[in-house]
Amino acid sequence: MERDADILVVGGGLNGPALALALAQAGLRVTVIDARPAPARAEAGFDGRAYALALASKRLLTVIGVWGRLAGKVQPILKIKASDGRAGQGPAPFFLTFDHAEIEEGPMGFMAEDRFLYAAFLAAMAETPGLRLLSGETVTAQEVTAEGVTVTLASGATLRARLLVGCDGRGSGVAARAGIRRHGWGYGQTALVTAIRHARDHEGVAQQFFMPSGPLAILPLPGGHHSSIVWSEAEARAAAIQALPDAGYLEALRPRFGDFLGEIALAGARFTYPLTLSLAERFTAPRLALVGDAAHGVHPIAGQGLNLGLRDVAALAQVLVEAQRRGEDIGAADVLERYQRWRRFDSTALALGMDGVNRLFSNDNPILRAGRDLGLGLVNALPGLRRGFMRQAAGLSAGATGELPRLLTGQAI
Ligand SMILES: Cc1cc2nc3c(=O)[nH]c(=O)nc-3n(C[C@H](O)[C@H](O)[C@H](O)COP(=O)(O)OP(=O)(O)OC[C@H]3O[C@@H](n4cnc5c(N)ncnc54)[C@H](O)[C@@H]3O)c2cc1C
Repeated sequence: MERDADILVVGGGLNGPALALALAQAGLRVTVIDARPAPARAEAGFDGRAYALALASKRLLTVIGVWGRLAGKVQPILKIKASDGRAGQGPAPFFLTFDHAEIEEGPMGFMAEDRFLYAAFLAAMAETPGLRLLSGETVTAQEVTAEGVTVTLASGATLRARLLVGCDGRGSGVAARAGIRRHGWGYGQTALVTAIRHARDHEGVAQQFFMPSGPLAILPLPGGHHSSIVWSEAEARAAAIQALPDAGYLEALRPRFGDFLGEIALAGARFTYPLTLSLAERFTAPRLALVGDAAHGVHPIAGQGLNLGLRDVAALAQVLVEAQRRGEDIGAADVLERYQRWRRFDSTALALGMDGVNRLFSNDNPILRAGRDLGLGLVNALPGLRRGFMRQAAGLSAGATGELPRLLTGQAI
């Protein structure tokens, strides 16, 4: 069988390019196919869409040649403050604080805007031999045989490889066409996402206010006076807020936000994202693997979605590169099973953990309130436990799945 590449990656969001870079840099030939035209995303102006990247994700991005292109464009998260809030009363006094000075590894995470991160991926991909990006091309069909996999594009063209990786997001067509079912549910919540400008310097502090209607995250952006917000509300309420003019939107935000950053103003476009949990029943099928949101779409409550995807990237890249070096077939079932064993438990546990946190906090039940205040107060009072949470948030703990993939520790495969 003549092949166009060793691996076809469907989806050029963020996980697809990360995986393609890791594989191509280790000598595999990779083609990424993305429905969205690349220039439009890379050339977007400031719109406030940004990710909290864990320290382990930074390490991976450094090894694959992306992080160095973000110099001066990322904001270290120096502290995380979490607090319980009540609608109309603003946040309660802070009672859970994570300070990066408590762990020797440095900041637990970094904020990076989508447009800069994506542009850095594009530049790194353009310079990597063996890596091809087909943007503005949609995969419509796939066929798996004993020797390989063939995908068909909307244009009618076909491409062949030994392995197909679905990085095509929550509605993964790659998974659906392979007959992989999904489990999940909606939260009845929508995330309102925008950027704000504020009078006072955020000093690198990320805030999470747990409101009965859903969490409000305020995430620091470079320069000190801009933050990205992810504000979850019940669906109908979110739709009503989104429909308001800017002045009304700000009026709705102010009582939740409080005045700790001084006067606030809207500074970016306003987006909404319906919040759902979506877990693929399996992460692999014959000659096929799923990565990122295609495998597990989680609630953004702890900003872990992309970090979780990059853990998949690191594990799958290591499994495939090691298999290739040993002369194994990279699409063989036992090779792909190593990836599934490494990742499935961790990501399912985290997805369900985020689900539980959201349920516990999106609630005004006085008993639950008392319980969570006590729980968070306890964590705050116990430095050992707090450091454990910080290592977890930084992506430095391997969890129940054994060792961390090499890329997450900053080493090449
Ligand atoms: C409100 C909100 C805030 C978030 N904040 C954070 C955060 O702070 N930190 C964090 O780590 N995560 C965060 N996340 C999660 C994060 O955005 C996602 O986990 C991540 O972007 C998923 O990336 P992906 O590459 O797996 O999928 P996607 O970004 O969904 O990319 C999928 C790609 O596949 C392409 N595609 C789909 N079908 C086809 C096809 N048939 N043919 C060709 N191409 C196709 C699409 O064009 C798209 O480019 C947040 C999510 C939300 C909703």
